[in-house]
Amino acid sequence: MKNKAYFKCIKGCTGEFALSEIIYKCPKCGSLLEVEHDIENLKKTSSDEWKNILNSRMGTSKWPYGSGVWRYKEMICPDVADKNIISMYEGNSNLFYAKRFGEKIGMKDLWIKMCGNSHTGSFKDLGMTVLVSMVNEMISNGKKIKAVACASTGDTSAALAAYCAYAGIPSIVFLPSNKISTAQLVQPISNGSIVISLDTDFDGCMKIVQEVTKDNEIYLANSMNSLRVEGQKTISAEIVQQFDWEVPDTIIIPGGNLGNVSALGKGFKMLKDLGLISKMPKIVVAQAQNANPLYLSYKTGFKKFEPVTPERTLASAIQIGDPVSVDKAINTLIEFNGIVEQASEEELANASGLADRTGMYTCPHTGVALAVLMKLAERNEIDKNGKTVVISTAHGLKFSEFKVGYHEINIAGFESKYRNKPIMLDADAGKVKEVLEREFSVKK
Ligand SMILES: *Cc1c(COP(=O)(O)O)cnc(C)c1O
Ligand SMILES: [Zn+2]
Repeated sequence: MKNKAYFKCIKGCTGEFALSEIIYKCPKCGSLLEVEHDIENLKKTSSDEWKNILNSRMGTSKWPYGSGVWRYKEMICPDVADKNIISMYEGNSNLFYAKRFGEKIGMKDLWIKMCGNSHTGSFKDLGMTVLVSMVNEMISNGKKIKAVACASTGDTSAALAAYCAYAGIPSIVFLPSNKISTAQLVQPISNGSIVISLDTDFDGCMKIVQEVTKDNEIYLANSMNSLRVEGQKTISAEIVQQFDWEVPDTIIIPGGNLGNVSALGKGFKMLKDLGLISKMPKIVVAQAQNANPLYLSYKTGFKKFEPVTPERTLASAIQIGDPVSVDKAINTLIEFNGIVEQASEEELANASGLADRTGMYTCPHTGVALAVLMKLAERNEIDKNGKTVVISTAHGLKFSEFKVGYHEINIAGFESKYRNKPIMLDADAGKVKEVLEREFSVKK
């Protein structure tokens, strides 16, 4: 039987490869591959039928459809056997109605997609369930795979380690020394990964992992592996489904290696192809000013793209100067009327601080996206009356150093506008009352 999905070159070279084949790049031109689906087959089910099927799977315990990724199985990875799926019922993250944050910047219909409310605390779980499930299937079909490896700025490795530990498959993670948070480092350690800390940056780790996985006995889990994109693209479908199949006007996502912006676009295109939606959102990529090669390219109208040597940024998961998926990202931005904007360290930290004051607990990458939102709203470059969704990519709890640094000391070079210091007092009720009076008189 013919497979319902296969790998194909993004530049359009001929050749189709099974998803169970170990292949990451087009053998003819070296470009990335993407998963293509038999849309005609999917269209045999009408859009109303799809809506009913997908709605009926929301929250079910019927394996594997209760997962926010595998709910869309037919549209992401149709040929894998259910028994081989490695899932922790990822996805299903809430939309946070940002009422008070929205009011502060003049927006009434602002939502935060809380993708960090997930098993390993970041949206990388969405893609990893697909990749590790395919590896599990290959192994159960007799393929010789010793381990799965990735280079990471912290979140990919945490997800890989957890899903592999669940499946009982060995994993190897390459991390840049001193460039990830304590939580991100201890996650793969706890899950029993082989953790290799290299004295380089992410781009340096990426080169090593590509070398190590060349002989195909170690499987490569980076986002150049387009299986992960299939899982990540369910963010679009889930947002639309959560809005009762209404498409937001604008979506803002922080970008580093740039696999996720194309995943977002691919998700919306799939929904449109199947007749589930008719309009498309505007997509905005938010970059840290200290790691902004896509922003610089955007400024040239995408005529030129040059990698940069990134500087240190608090948004460590997007400290990437030579993004693997840049071609896919640019195609997506052109198609989705896209914008790229950047945020300085001060802007991202204070946007995050402000968001926390309105009930969120934001990671620095979400801070980048919120800072960019504030700039675009101020300049009226996005529709402030429209429905806007910011993708929150990780949980703030994974970035305690960032939070502590913001509130404890002023982070080098700028003022923490929303700093909140604990008050140290003797255990004396009189003194406490005195201090509370003082606090009430200054704080609104
Ligand atoms: C991976 C990651 C991103 C960026 O995604 P890309 O696909 O690399 O652009 C943003 N935020 C967090 C927390 C991440 O882990
Ligand atoms: Zn090709």
